[in-house]
Amino acid sequence: MIQPPLTIDAVRCAIQERKTTALALMEDHYERIEKIEKEDEAIGAFLTVCRERALEAADRIDRMAAEGKPLPPLAGVPVAIKDVMSTRGVRTTAASKSLEHYIPPFDCTAVARIEAAGAVVLGKTNCDEFAMGSSNENSAFRPVRNPRALDRVPGGSSGGSAAAVSADMAVAALGSDTGGSIRQPASFCGVVGLMPTYGRVSRYGLIAFASSLDHIGPITKTVKDAARVLGVIAGRDAMDSTSADLPVPNYVAELEKSARGLKLGVAKEYFGEGLDPEVRHAVESAIDKLKSLGCEVVPVSLPHTPYAIPTYYIIATAEASSNLARYDGVRYSYRARGVRSLSEMYRRSRDESFGAEVKRRIMLGTYALSAGYYDAYYLKAQKVRSLLARDFEDAFRKVDAIITPTSPTPAFRLGEKSNDPLAMYLADIYTVTADLAGIPGISIPCGETRDKLPIGLQILGRHFDEATILRVAHAYEQAA
Ligand code: GLN
Repeated sequence: MIQPPLTIDAVRCAIQERKTTALALMEDHYERIEKIEKEDEAIGAFLTVCRERALEAADRIDRMAAEGKPLPPLAGVPVAIKDVMSTRGVRTTAASKSLEHYIPPFDCTAVARIEAAGAVVLGKTNCDEFAMGSSNENSAFRPVRNPRALDRVPGGSSGGSAAAVSADMAVAALGSDTGGSIRQPASFCGVVGLMPTYGRVSRYGLIAFASSLDHIGPITKTVKDAARVLGVIAGRDAMDSTSADLPVPNYVAELEKSARGLKLGVAKEYFGEGLDPEVRHAVESAIDKLKSLGCEVVPVSLPHTPYAIPTYYIIATAEASSNLARYDGVRYSYRARGVRSLSEMYRRSRDESFGAEVKRRIMLGTYALSAGYYDAYYLKAQKVRSLLARDFEDAFRKVDAIITPTSPTPAFRLGEKSNDPLAMYLADIYTVTADLAGIPGISIPCGETRDKLPIGLQILGRHFDEATILRVAHAYEQAA
């Protein structure tokens, strides 16, 4: 058995050189999952495991290896999938009671692509219900604990995916990011989380939260692994008209280029009130480190940043209220029993199966879209969104990437913010801007607090320029 932490290349090499098999790795990971999840303080990262499917995938790779065939890029890599991505024949719940028994008849494109590249899908990970949340406490089934501090949240909404990678229950995972849900949990759990440019990765088969903001991306242990997974899932998909028809660079090869001479922007708006001093210190030290690697640090201004949270929470809830209208109990999703009329069926099915946060979002979004309020809220928010995007356009005329903290604080305690939605929403202050502007962002570990809580560094880039942020991230990771 090769010991964790395992990276994608280590797995592939070990299988190619016949030091292990995909099957043995799969079994090791299931054993680890079982052991960890049996403990009193279980992490709760998985909602469903899919042994048969994993077995088939592992077997295919082992046969290729035995025949001496060249192995695909993710050969034998045990991965975990956030439970908002559809998996054919495998329960897909979005951590909601409304989809508790839903078994999709098709695969999400991103999942199909990583499997075609040899990955072994172990199972589906816990998350906030319909990806709405920043702490994973909104799962209808159970919260997730942070593997690095069991009394703390793993972040959200891809908390199960980040926790699974952080605790070596998977080598890599897929998450989704609408307002920070890949990057923030990655930062809380001490792993790497990459949100690609809007349109870079197909969302076909992703359970929609807010369609103009939803992204799929990797959560991994290293920057190189994130580059590998991105290379596999990126690119045009005929099933998603919002996926971009652009060539996909060889992201791993791009990492070889030095970061020397790159211009990095630092915006004072991301270092203001509410930023934890230990996080500030770690991020400032990381910036110094990047300077010492030959990057030039340039002050930039992103003046509309203070409006990002209200803008996001109007647009995201408006789109969610529309996307969630389909869960009416007719074709699929939970249906209430003993109803006497169609409208009672709709009402009770939704009332009995959505959690409090989902209901809050549907109400907020419906309000923002209603006649008489549409112009004041939704339309206004769209205008501010354009201004936020323009801030980045202006900044990226001067710099190649922008450095910020990922989250204003390290992982908070379970229950600490769950009764205060506004405090929870404010935790997304540094991440929602990239979703609104459609630009890519990565979070990488940049140290720990005195209490040993991981801290995340965020690197934002130009549209479709994931290569540059990966390069900066890789340079920092290697030097640190
Ligand atoms: N925390 C944000 C929210 O609750 C972002 C969620 C996400 O990115 N899916 O909406």
